[in-house]
Amino acid sequence: MATPDVTMDGRRKLLMDRSVPGRMGTTLPPLDVPAQPLPSKGLLRDDLPMPEVSESELVRYFSQISQFNFSIDHNFYPLGSCTMKYNPKVNDEMAGMPGMAEIHPNQPPETVQGALKLMHRLQGYLAEATGMAGASLAPMAGAEGELTGLLMARAYHLSRGDAKRKKVLIPDSAHGTNPASAAMAGFQVLALPTDTNGNTDAEALKASVGDDLAAFMITQPSTLGLFDANLLELVHIVREAGGIVYGDGANLNALLGRVKLGDLGFDVVHSNLHKTFTQPHGGGGPGAGAVMVSRRLLPFLPTPLVEQRKGPDGKEQYVLATPPKTIGKMGAFHGNFGALVRAYSYIRTLGDAGVAEVSRDAVINANYILSQLKGHYDLPYDRRCMHEAVFSARNLRHKHGVSALDVAKRLIDYGVHPPTMYFPLIVEEALMIEPTETESKETLDQFIATMKAIAREAAENPKLLHDAPHNTPNTRLDEARAARQPDLRWRKA
Ligand SMILES: *Cc1c(COP(=O)(O)O)cnc(C)c1O
Repeated sequence: MATPDVTMDGRRKLLMDRSVPGRMGTTLPPLDVPAQPLPSKGLLRDDLPMPEVSESELVRYFSQISQFNFSIDHNFYPLGSCTMKYNPKVNDEMAGMPGMAEIHPNQPPETVQGALKLMHRLQGYLAEATGMAGASLAPMAGAEGELTGLLMARAYHLSRGDAKRKKVLIPDSAHGTNPASAAMAGFQVLALPTDTNGNTDAEALKASVGDDLAAFMITQPSTLGLFDANLLELVHIVREAGGIVYGDGANLNALLGRVKLGDLGFDVVHSNLHKTFTQPHGGGGPGAGAVMVSRRLLPFLPTPLVEQRKGPDGKEQYVLATPPKTIGKMGAFHGNFGALVRAYSYIRTLGDAGVAEVSRDAVINANYILSQLKGHYDLPYDRRCMHEAVFSARNLRHKHGVSALDVAKRLIDYGVHPPTMYFPLIVEEALMIEPTETESKETLDQFIATMKAIAREAAENPKLLHDAPHNTPNTRLDEARAARQPDLRWRKA
């Protein structure tokens, strides 16, 4: 039946479908300046229809389509390698305060001492949390943090007259941005295999290092959700060969307050403030990919850094400083300041004890899911995980012809956002589940029951899964075509 938001032929109404000539959503005030002639006819077009709708029609249209979005504020969002956790609203409130939101990056430093103090403290907190000597808040995404770290590694080798170090070694369990960033920084990328236990193959690393090694780049915990049991050995091999040890700590919530990569011999670690340190993300930004470095890389940090110095009047003040051998700027100003305020607020509200609780809860939640779904879904690496658990739907595919994609689509019917699928690439039919630390046992139990129900449905009624989702405004889409030939334009029928 046609409802007010559906056309007679059953299509959801777009804004143009609601248009009635002459209708308007606002009342313009009387013209109080001289009327100006329109441009010449040649510059005008009358074939460009614009929607003419009342205010209430406009509000309903946008309110309706806003509900098609899935967000962490609606329901459970266990997207592995992305840390979609609940971010306390108080951190948004802090970032929205006029003293934070209405300052300008070109203001003289003496007028924004509070903002600089916040950045200075955050540099210190992040360095401390990762066991490093210093930090830059400049990068605006995790991938930009990676690029920053690799440019520093290159500058470091060149500063020592060591120009032959062109190779970056990256385990095949790494996040996809790692090899991309290394290539962008001008390095040759070589992949290292993962052993049968899910650790990086130390023998393969040993065989690949030489005096051309620039850096070794490892995601920790790995995208298999595992802490690499060979980590100390790997670090030792790389350092002996004169390479820089890079840690991708985009999702550090399993390590916070427990393990400091700096203590294990890392030279660079980046962390995504929009994953680990509160900042709603998705939809492309804004983010922040702070980079923390060991003592030997301090001189190469990007500019500007915030430093504390004694002013001429003897008082402490915060200034913008340029490290002596800086790689330069990674963006126009000081990074995404709003994201930095949220991270600062998050760390301060949690405190030391709260931060350590984050990692405890993240790891317990993931292992709870792992233990409960084991036996229902294939577990390629059957060992304790960190903040996420990687399953495989290969048993369902081989027995019932149901894929990881079908499982993910069916989850939508149950009101759950699909986990990450088909990644990491080294796991067939991968389902990568990160519950995060902010979910309750009740939510996890509900999710576990749902996943078991879907495994049963796969055996009893595979078609139900092949056709899922059933309850959404759009059902199964041709995703490849939607990406290759997006149809974003309204055309008059
Ligand atoms: C998300 C992520 C990145 C990339 O971060 P962006 O902010 O999306 O550029 C890098 N590594 C890992 C492990 C990640 O999860």
